[in-house]
Amino acid sequence: MKEVLTNPSAGYYMSKDVFGEKGDFITSPEISQMFGELIAIWLMNEWTKCGKPTPFQIVELGPGRGTLMSDVLRVFSKFKMAESDFSVSLVEVSPYLSQIQEKCLCKTQNEKISELPIDSQHYKESKSLYGSPVRWYNHISDLPRTFTLFLAHEFFDALPIHKLVKVDQGWREVLIDLNREESTLRYVLSRERTPASLYCRENEVRKDLEISPQSSVMIQVMASRIHQDGGIGLVIDYGHEGDKTDTFRGFKNHKLHDPLVEPGTADLTADVDFSALKWAATHPKSVEDWKANLTFGTVDQKDFLTRMGINMRLEKLLASCRNEKLANDLKSAHRMLTDPIEMGSKFKFLALYPAVMEKILLKYPPPGFS
Ligand code: SAH
Repeated sequence: MKEVLTNPSAGYYMSKDVFGEKGDFITSPEISQMFGELIAIWLMNEWTKCGKPTPFQIVELGPGRGTLMSDVLRVFSKFKMAESDFSVSLVEVSPYLSQIQEKCLCKTQNEKISELPIDSQHYKESKSLYGSPVRWYNHISDLPRTFTLFLAHEFFDALPIHKLVKVDQGWREVLIDLNREESTLRYVLSRERTPASLYCRENEVRKDLEISPQSSVMIQVMASRIHQDGGIGLVIDYGHEGDKTDTFRGFKNHKLHDPLVEPGTADLTADVDFSALKWAATHPKSVEDWKANLTFGTVDQKDFLTRMGINMRLEKLLASCRNEKLANDLKSAHRMLTDPIEMGSKFKFLALYPAVMEKILLKYPPPGFS
């Protein structure tokens, strides 16, 4: 899954724009500006609750076309902060998508890659339309150490999973094998236990599992940064609370696609196991990370957006909309985002806070979560 999605020469995300009607799938920020605007208000509110620490960075993991960050920055710009108050850090593995993000977020296209010092942690830098520095990183652990607002939308579902099946002898892993006679790929079961089975919980009742060690590592880095440097995390994705089994699938041209056919031409994804993410975020990987962080959620997208005022925002946008087609588009976007049959209950929101905020959160709980 990792090779198919992010191999530098043939990876699915590495050389094309895969989003939107002409691509393979469409995401909430691409559906309407209302989505990013409400997330920006949420982040601003929670940053204020922390005492408005500056300078801070806003980080997005896997920003796609940059649409969510662009909506967030537009809302942030209304709050009249100084350019030096915050910087934007994007964790993006695809050089191609980083160019699209730069076009979307920045004043000018910068070809500064060769000018960066050799020991620089970021691979590209520019300035946002509003003046803040924007930097691109390959990995979450390369990010600068400072107070951070983390955002991850449809990021964790793209991280590789292992599939495990319980047979009479114990856990076996589903592997992918080359069928030499037909030159096709096929699933096979490992003969022995594989290291992935170490991630199974003792009390696991499912017989068919998808586990993502890389997701656990990523969220642990996020949690450890939040604990050590201060910050807040918001993770949004489709997923479950540790009860689903077989969700690995491919998407091409908005239709399901067999992951073993023409790998690299279709998106591969698996539902995010939020219970595993929460477990990893609250079980520190080292003693310095004690004491563990706090998590809120998951809550359904419909509930989060409704509590954050999407209906009011829709009314406001409709009131200033003179064109009937645009008004209908807005209404249908609102329905797509909130209707439980569309994205309203499939997508979940999870928030991460440092343990030191426990008391203030009791008094002022995170909006959107209850
Ligand atoms: N957040 C965007 C895009 C989601 S698609 C949206 O909702 O529209 C997944 C994004 O994560 C892409 O930008 C992809 O290039 C990036 N990505 C995938 N695997 C990654 C990894 N291991 N490290 C960093 N970025 C990754």
